[in-house]
Amino acid sequence: MLRRTKILATLGPATDKPGVLEALFEAGIDVVRMNFSHGSAEDHLARAQKIRDLSHATGRRVGILADLQGPKIRIARFIDTKVFLDEGQPFALDINFDPLAGDNTQVGITYEPLALEVKPGSRLLLDDGRIVLDVVNVENMRVNCTVVVGGYLSNNKGINLLGGGLSAAALTDKDKEDIKTIGIMKCDYVAVSFPRCAEDLHEARRLLKEVGCEAGIVAKVERAEAIVDDVMDEIILASDAVMVARGDLGVEIGDANLPAVQKKLIKRTRELNRVAITATQMMESMIENPIPTRAEVFDVANAVYDGTDAIMLSAETASGNHPVKAVEAMNRICIEAEKQPSVRESDHRINIQFDRDDEAIAMSAMYMANHTKIKGIVALTESGSTPLWMSRISSGIPIFAFSRVEETLGKATLFRGVFPMFYELSDTQDHAEVNRGVVKELRKWNIAKDGDKFIITKGDLNGIKGGTNALKVIVVGQGLTP
Ligand code: PGA
Ligand code: MN
Repeated sequence: MLRRTKILATLGPATDKPGVLEALFEAGIDVVRMNFSHGSAEDHLARAQKIRDLSHATGRRVGILADLQGPKIRIARFIDTKVFLDEGQPFALDINFDPLAGDNTQVGITYEPLALEVKPGSRLLLDDGRIVLDVVNVENMRVNCTVVVGGYLSNNKGINLLGGGLSAAALTDKDKEDIKTIGIMKCDYVAVSFPRCAEDLHEARRLLKEVGCEAGIVAKVERAEAIVDDVMDEIILASDAVMVARGDLGVEIGDANLPAVQKKLIKRTRELNRVAITATQMMESMIENPIPTRAEVFDVANAVYDGTDAIMLSAETASGNHPVKAVEAMNRICIEAEKQPSVRESDHRINIQFDRDDEAIAMSAMYMANHTKIKGIVALTESGSTPLWMSRISSGIPIFAFSRVEETLGKATLFRGVFPMFYELSDTQDHAEVNRGVVKELRKWNIAKDGDKFIITKGDLNGIKGGTNALKVIVVGQGLTP
């Protein structure tokens, strides 16, 4: 059975080891994440090249997502790498303090306006919430705090403000520099960290266009202000995909609020014809251990039930001890979760009017596929819109996106239930030729056998974006098909 939910694996030192990437391809990764918070431009370029080479060698198109660091606010460094903070003790964050000389009373920070944006009583969460500080007062750009939850604190840990509201712009100077590298890399998606509003995403798209990059934009939802109703819709509509970035988001809104927000974000993202990624700590214990905890098994399955397109691995693959096993575990959990009837049925858009014929055809194909005996759907596509619309409908029927456009195949690597396949379609092929070509290709990959019924959607004029105007049913081995 083909797995529908896509697996997104972060690359890092653990995947640079000999043979690991090959094994990850074998285990079924669909997209890789280049995390620009770590590593040099050369590292990322070399990894991207390796992915392209392996895709070429295996015939399995694996997408590339470049993840910009964004304005992650951090503490500076300690003299002794780390300190221990006791509950109740004073501790200060100071922009003017020597960035290398922190101790257990004070440390430097990387974010100039912090002192202007907090007030007495503000709660700061450090290291993904492991350390909690309450602001007592602000003196000359120095934020004096009391430790509420103590423990070890080491160099460069992140800082979040509970409830959100820090004003830092989403694209930093480093991000703008990294966008130049991304332009050379030709990736399929670029993730913007900590967007506050649609404009942050439009700006990223503009800057990418300037370097010739047409990648899809992923909005990482990780600020409290990004999940307010209107802003949420605006952010979803400004992007091609949305990441439920549970690490930072959980720190800003409180962990207990995450499950409901995850469900709402995924649902709304799919309703607005965008793609959802669920990220962070999905297989956290597998950084150390070869098997997931029961809770992690449920987390992955629940994300599948929520309708996510993709699930992401971070340190589990980038620096963990068992990167391949983590992907294998996700693979088997998804396959089982996808057998649940609830993820195969749909009442999506049963009552709406469609503005566009191509969208109506995509929906009709899904309706037919879900209500008759169909082996699969083949969407001959230039822009990728048809398979995207189709995959917004819950279904158990695979959607094969046949395209000669590399960018379209790359984007489809994230769509749930869509399998991108390179297919050269000439502008002059007639219908019978198209049928024959498609069936030949399906047979080549052992997807079709005699008697299988497939739906094909296409446009009369090949090569025209948005031109899908036909839906037909073919039976393999009968009539005009070989
Ligand atoms: P990160 O983003 O891994 O880049 O921090 C994801 C998250 O915050 O969950
Ligand atoms: Mn984050």
